[in-house]
Amino acid sequence: MASVALEQVTKAFGEVEAVSGIDLEFPESEFVVLVGPSGCGKSTTLRLISGLEDVTRGRVLIGGRDVTRVAPARRNVAMVFQSYALFPHMTVAENIGFGLTLARRPKQEIRRRVEEAAQILQIEALLERKPRQLSGGQRQRVAIGRSIIRNPEVFLFDEPLSNLDATLRIQMRLEIARLHQRINTTMVYVTHDQTEAMTLADRIAVFRNGRIEQVGTPMDLYDAPANRFVAGFIGAPAMNFIPSRILEEDGHREIRSGATGIPLGAAPDGAGDGETLLGIRPEHMSVVPEEEGDFRAHVEIIEKLGVETLAYLQTDLLDASLTLRVPPETGLSRGCHVSVRIDRNRIHLFDPKGGALG
Ligand code: ATP
Repeated sequence: MASVALEQVTKAFGEVEAVSGIDLEFPESEFVVLVGPSGCGKSTTLRLISGLEDVTRGRVLIGGRDVTRVAPARRNVAMVFQSYALFPHMTVAENIGFGLTLARRPKQEIRRRVEEAAQILQIEALLERKPRQLSGGQRQRVAIGRSIIRNPEVFLFDEPLSNLDATLRIQMRLEIARLHQRINTTMVYVTHDQTEAMTLADRIAVFRNGRIEQVGTPMDLYDAPANRFVAGFIGAPAMNFIPSRILEEDGHREIRSGATGIPLGAAPDGAGDGETLLGIRPEHMSVVPEEEGDFRAHVEIIEKLGVETLAYLQTDLLDASLTLRVPPETGLSRGCHVSVRIDRNRIHLFDPKGGALG
């Protein structure tokens, strides 16, 4: 296992800067997830670590060694792709052992190491099958097996679960978490799925337009997003945003929200006066008796998910459509009117340009 560091790394494809001067450092054994919308530069970053792309400017270090100009095969990293890229005419055992066969390792050693990898991934019974005789999840395990056998210092995963159906994705996500616990090798994992990022990562780097918006543990990003983009990207359903103002009143600075200026508590120190955007997550609002509510709303759509209920609210008072997440026993139904209270301790404020305030 090895640490990985990117120093002021830029990658340009002609006119397009896919990655713009990023700094990123993670210690050995860490599970880091690079997440962001399509085209934000996360796959390019992974390919720069692997050496499949050359950096335009900056340095890449693996285990403290400058590998910026080192060929991919000599970086001791293994990459697992979305397309499993298995050889169809070879058995599972031959696919997993292929790298060692190429390196002309003795047959007995290859057999032993293939069996070890197959045991870790629980595919011992499949070793003599061909890839076409496997399910998508089994194929992905074989692809991971081919990486494990090389004993890399760093694993690089590029959207490895994208081709799987929802149930299998969750199952394979667990398998990858187990694999990390078991072999404890540094892993860098690219996905556009924030749930995958939240569940797998020790730390997440959120990308946008070739830059890193924030790096932190999943709960850092959830509790203290650095800006509106991260706030809206991390957490599902997404955070609600309500146009608001901060006003001075009788010596106090108050948050007033929506068209009618509903008071939503004291403004934190450090937040300036004037226009602001208030963020509140769906799980940080509750349905309350009318006299305790901040506002009334109409339940437009309801989604009963068993463990929780999501309600999509319309309220003219706040100048916003809101998502509310409540326990199922709240007993909401489509078309009803509810009083809603916002948890003052879970409010986030952003300046009009999107940075976090206070
Ligand atoms: P996705 O989730 O869609 O794969 P991504 O975040 O991984 O997106 P990248 O594949 O890293 O994004 O691409 C970042 C930007 O660089 C995009 O604008 C893309 O079009 C561009 N790009 C990537 N590879 C090349 C290339 N070989 N030539 C030219 N432009 C490229």
